[in-house]
Amino acid sequence: MNEVPVRRSVPSEESTRHFDPILLPELHELYTARAARLRELATGHELEAYLRLAADVAQAQAQAQAQAQATVSPESRSNAVAVDPVEIARQGTWVTHLDTMLDQLIPGASPAITPHLDALRAMSTQARLDAGLALAQHQFHSVSQALAPFLWAAFSLDVALAARTVPLPVASSEESPSCPVCGSAPVASLIYKGTRQGLRYLHCSLCESQWHMVRAKCTNCADAGDLDYLSFDSTEAVVRAESCGHCHSYLKVISQEREPNAESVADDLATLVLDDAASAEGYGRTGLNPFALPDQDL
Ligand SMILES: [Zn+2]
Ligand SMILES: [Zn+2]
Repeated sequence: MNEVPVRRSVPSEESTRHFDPILLPELHELYTARAARLRELATGHELEAYLRLAADVAQAQAQAQAQAQATVSPESRSNAVAVDPVEIARQGTWVTHLDTMLDQLIPGASPAITPHLDALRAMSTQARLDAGLALAQHQFHSVSQALAPFLWAAFSLDVALAARTVPLPVASSEESPSCPVCGSAPVASLIYKGTRQGLRYLHCSLCESQWHMVRAKCTNCADAGDLDYLSFDSTEAVVRAESCGHCHSYLKVISQEREPNAESVADDLATLVLDDAASAEGYGRTGLNPFALPDQDL
C-alpha cells in the first residue's frame, strides 16, 4: 500500500438508460455474500479478528432471516405500512432475531467475544428495547460500543424484512442523500457489474435497500463542481473516497466492475485506513457502517 493517496479525475457522465430507482437485494443472498467477502478480506488484514467476527454476525443474520421469513403471514404483508425504524425498534420483534443470532454465535465465539455475547444474553427485554430505540434514534453514546454491532444487526434485520413487505416509495426526481425507504444513512455507494453495469446505487446502512444516484455528483449535496477521488494502491482501486469540496464530506465508492465480489459493508469496513486519510484532509464521513458505528450521537 502506497503512503501517498492517488487521485483520479471525475468519471464521464454515464449514458441515460432505464434503471430501477430502488433495489431490494434478497437478504439471505446478501448476508451470505457479505460474510464470504469479509472472510476473503480478513486474511492477512490488520483487523483480521474483527472482520471474521463481522462475517460470523452476517452469517447469523442469514440464519435469523431464514427463521423469521417462515413466520411472516400474508396478512402482515397486506397490512404493511411505511418503514419507520423508531416504530420498529419500539415494537421489539427484533429481539427475537437477537436471540436466534446469539444461539448461532455463542458456541463458536472466541474468549474475547464471549463476555459480550453473555452480556447480551443476560440483558432484560426492557434494556434491549431501550438500546434498540437509542440506536434507531442515533443516540450512539448511550449503547455500549462492544454490544452495539450485535444489537444493530438484529434490529437492522427486522427493518430490512419490513422494507421487503411494503410498497416501494414513488421515485422522486430528487435523488436523496439518505435512504428513501427508511431514512437512514448510506454505507457507501456501489458501482454495479452485469446487467446494471456502471450504474451507481447507494446502500442503506439499516434496511439494506439500494437507491440509484447518477455518478459524478456529490451524494450529500448534489454538487458536481468539486469532486475528488482518493484511494490507495492505484487509480484503479476497488474502493475510493469520493470527496466534495462544496460540502466537505465524502462517501466511499466501491466498484464491482473492478472486483466482482465487492460488497458495501465488507469493503467499507476493510478500508477504514482510507477514512483516516479523508478525514486528515478535512472531509467529514457521511457513511455509516453497522460494524463501525460512531461513539457519538448523530
Ligand atoms: Zn433504508
Ligand atoms: Zn457535497
